Amino acid sequence: MKNLVFVIALALAFFSCKEDKKEVKDAVVEVVKPEIKLYTFDGGTVMVNNLELFSQDTTYQGQTKEFSDAFYVISHPDGNLMWDAGLPEALVASPEPITPPGGAFTISRKDSVINQLKSIGMTPADFKYIALSHTHFDHSGHANVLKSATWLVQEAEHRMITSEEIKNGENAGLYAAISELTNIKMLDGDFDVFGDGSVVIKSMPGHTPGHQVLYLDLAENGPTLLTGDLYHLYENREHRRVPSFNSDVDQTLKSMAAFEAFAKEKNAKVYLQHQKEDFNKMPKAPEYLK
Ligand SMILES: [Zn+2]
Repeated sequence: MKNLVFVIALALAFFSCKEDKKEVKDAVVEVVKPEIKLYTFDGGTVMVNNLELFSQDTTYQGQTKEFSDAFYVISHPDGNLMWDAGLPEALVASPEPITPPGGAFTISRKDSVINQLKSIGMTPADFKYIALSHTHFDHSGHANVLKSATWLVQEAEHRMITSEEIKNGENAGLYAAISELTNIKMLDGDFDVFGDGSVVIKSMPGHTPGHQVLYLDLAENGPTLLTGDLYHLYENREHRRVPSFNSDVDQTLKSMAAFEAFAKEKNAKVYLQHQKEDFNKMPKAPEYLK
């Protein structure tokens, strides 16, 4: 189904005798955008016990910060997309937040994706697509639950997460979190999910080899960007700070430059997924942005 209807009133040109000059009335172009809804869900909380990890230098030495950990449902007339998958669902059963080995983070999650989707009358079977900004543990939590969906993943990310080094190393859990996603559409760059420009995955590598962000052209909210982990903090966006654990610093800086140019070109509203202030300003499911 084509969702864009273009109503174009052709330019009317007429000759004015009084002013003795030709006036051209501007063409009137009215674009009816597809009805897209952006639902925001709480995928848990990350207490960062060592914020210094989020810069190459010692800027954040001794600081801690609580991060939101959102996941999103994008409802489009041609299908539903899940963007990111929160923290591991195993946390839901834990009465207390968990601090994994290393101690950098203390994490918690209140509810499972199946329960959360009930608020908007959906089940995992309702999803055509799942896409993760990247495959870190705080974005892939319930990914396997969406196993009937097609996973939209950058080839570079897929290569990394399915490598023997990850599968058989100390980060094997990262592979396990996506191992049941077997319907895979490999991407190599930007991808227009529904073919009408309204939902576009933008390749922004550097945090991980196949990190990506999501662009939405919403009817009321307008051009909207979800940053994934291109930026975790407002200060990192302002000063272009790169976390110490990014896979490639130069690539990250190039992605930041490309992101800012694109955001400016579209005059987009930018939402940092881990920044609590941005999470709090989003309507929470069953409410939505449109
Ligand atoms: Zn993250």
